[in-house]
Amino acid sequence: MRSISIFGATGSVGEQTVDLIQRAGGAEAYRVVALTGGRNVARLAEMARALRAEVAVCGDASGFAELRERLAGSGVQAAAGPEAIAEAADRPADWVMSAIVGAAGLVPGFRALRHGRTLALANKESLVTAGPLLLAEAAAHGATILPVDSEHSAVFQALTGEDISAVERIILTASGGALRDWPLEALAKATVTEALAHPNWAMGQRITIDSASMFNKALEVIETREFFGVAPEQVEVIIHPESLIHSMVGFHDGAIMAHMGAPDMRHSIGYALNWPARNALPVARLDLAQVATLTFRAPDLTRYPALRLAREVMARRGLCGAAFNAAKEVALDHFLAGGLGFMEMAGAVEATLEALDAEMGSNLPQALEDVLAMDHLARVRAGEVARDRARSR
Ligand code: NAD
Ligand code: MG
Repeated sequence: MRSISIFGATGSVGEQTVDLIQRAGGAEAYRVVALTGGRNVARLAEMARALRAEVAVCGDASGFAELRERLAGSGVQAAAGPEAIAEAADRPADWVMSAIVGAAGLVPGFRALRHGRTLALANKESLVTAGPLLLAEAAAHGATILPVDSEHSAVFQALTGEDISAVERIILTASGGALRDWPLEALAKATVTEALAHPNWAMGQRITIDSASMFNKALEVIETREFFGVAPEQVEVIIHPESLIHSMVGFHDGAIMAHMGAPDMRHSIGYALNWPARNALPVARLDLAQVATLTFRAPDLTRYPALRLAREVMARRGLCGAAFNAAKEVALDHFLAGGLGFMEMAGAVEATLEALDAEMGSNLPQALEDVLAMDHLARVRAGEVARDRARSR
């Protein structure tokens, strides 16, 4: 029986992973080792009981007493706090889902790779902030990383049986997010609720707003460059409002391989879960006659300044990815709290990168500690930048 752990089990990707595991037979089909969550202790305890996990860990240390109480008599151990999450990644498991959101997902992913596990990687921040370190860790320990982000899963699948040297370009598709058809002038006043109305994908709150601003696509461009090892100029972005092509690979002979399917994350999660097999998945089948048309348009960089910043991050590399990701998370916090306007997020991120110019260097990070230190520093700087801007509004 295959053993599995899910980090971030109570989130959007985590819940869909749990759904697939349950449909496949749950505890009868998999030995569930660790499930982790953040603050939603009730849901974490419920899924840990249902899947008969060895241990359930909540990231928030103050949730420990409640978690222990909810798990009393179930045989599931309870633990809490960031160190307990990292330790859960040391427990033997064949397959590990990395679906904690943000920089908090870095450490458990690295720990799982150190033990040579197969890591299904949804946490894109790991590749953006520490890509070279992550791939080196996997190579050093014979571990496998399977991308779960739908675009990267699509590219990975289009590359099956191909040599990466045959690739001319990778074309990432973007829905354009909730505000894609708004006039440019109106974007400055977009509210959180408006940015959350994603046309195609049901995802966590943060990534949905990052889709509207295309900060999500900016992360994915960097993620693509790091994971597939292609040059920055080989990574393109195209707006495809229907979200039925999940990404494409263009080869030197002019052929383009496109990955299509319903916009449902359970496809890429399930692909990683069953890899290298392709088992049946509970996703809708496309009726192409009904779809009838697929449309595409080039992204406008005035509307999506995050895409321009991604190019700068790739040119700079070093710790710039860590600074970019942290600054973007802080800018988003300030947008959510009303301190920054929708279109002010990119400016705040850019100003943070400029303020950290001297600290960023251009060498690749040597250790995870360097990445975490830059993450911390960039959060402090970005907070200062955002507060300054809020005051001067
Ligand atoms: P989410 O916010 O729905 O869930 C995040 C999970 O992480 C939850 O279980 C939460 O409890 C946990 N968590 C948050 N902060 C934590 C902390 N400090 N310590 C421990 N646990 C913590 O997020 P999501 O949408 O599921 O996204 C997860 C990751 O997958 C992100 O990196 C995201 O970019 C990526 N991703 C998501 C989707 C999607 O469809 N949701 C698609 C592609 C990639
Ligand atoms: Mg994606």
